[in-house]
Amino acid sequence: MTRIAVLGSTNMDLVAYVKTAPRRGETVTGHEFRTIPGGKGANQAVAAARAGADVALIGAVGTDEFGARLRAALDGSGVDTDLVRTTEGPSGTAHIVVDAHGGNAIVVIPGANASVTHLGPGDEALISGAESLLLQLELPMDTVVEGAKAARRHGVRTVLTPSPVQPLPPELLAATDLLVANEHEAAALTGIDDPKAAARALLELVPEVVVTLGARGSLYTARGQDPVAVAAPEVTAVDTTGAGDTFVGALAVALGEGRAMPEALAWASDAAALSVQRPGAVAAMPYRKEIDAAAE
Ligand code: ADP
Repeated sequence: MTRIAVLGSTNMDLVAYVKTAPRRGETVTGHEFRTIPGGKGANQAVAAARAGADVALIGAVGTDEFGARLRAALDGSGVDTDLVRTTEGPSGTAHIVVDAHGGNAIVVIPGANASVTHLGPGDEALISGAESLLLQLELPMDTVVEGAKAARRHGVRTVLTPSPVQPLPPELLAATDLLVANEHEAAALTGIDDPKAAARALLELVPEVVVTLGARGSLYTARGQDPVAVAAPEVTAVDTTGAGDTFVGALAVALGEGRAMPEALAWASDAAALSVQRPGAVAAMPYRKEIDAAAE
């Protein structure tokens, strides 16, 4: 089994389903409320674990009731949570309003995630034993940089998802092997709308780039190579939440198992296509057997 470390967030998603989202000063009555374990770090960890890796998460949950539930959900998904600290105060929460058209508005409150201000005891040892370190931007930036540097010191592949999108410090870029951005993130980072041109611009910052294009698949490019377009399987999407995280988790597993990039990308696309056919983020993430069956 390939070993993957994830340095990232855990959030409880508090989701209100409404017909029409309220405007400022307005109160509306919704029809459903759900609490769903999430956070980009936790989501990528679960995606990689289901895809067949030995996965450990570095992060934090709070001392509120959400903290215990978040940890239990990760444990239940087979993610090692020994290095997930419990810090005094609330867990991270995402307050999400979903309207009848599937459009959403989200407020994220970092909570315990903000307490991860540096790597803790055992974190670097864990990273050093992994094949890849998956990073996103829902933890304090200094910690993300520290994690990427630790991985780099030990020759561990770093895979960065630049979400929520924000300027990337040069030190982080210098320690990033593979950047996986969706087309909106790629455009925001470069100021270039055309995904191919944006990918080319990103290649000046990191050695390998994947730009994901939703139903249009993805685009892979590495320095000195022509871009490779990867088609997405044609499926009926019911909920694309977490597609990107499923894609990254599965891609890291395939690369960790030594598959060549084109094959790894195709396998990750199969995994992500399975996830969009079912509702939810983590709930929709496919297991190894399903991905292998879809890939046949
Ligand atoms: P994010 O979830 O980060 O916004 P994308 O929407 O680009 O990222 O989706 C990530 C990947 O998931 C895509 O590159 C593609 O492989 C897969 N995917 C997303 N939407 C669909 C879809 N409607 N049909 C098939 N595959 C999809």
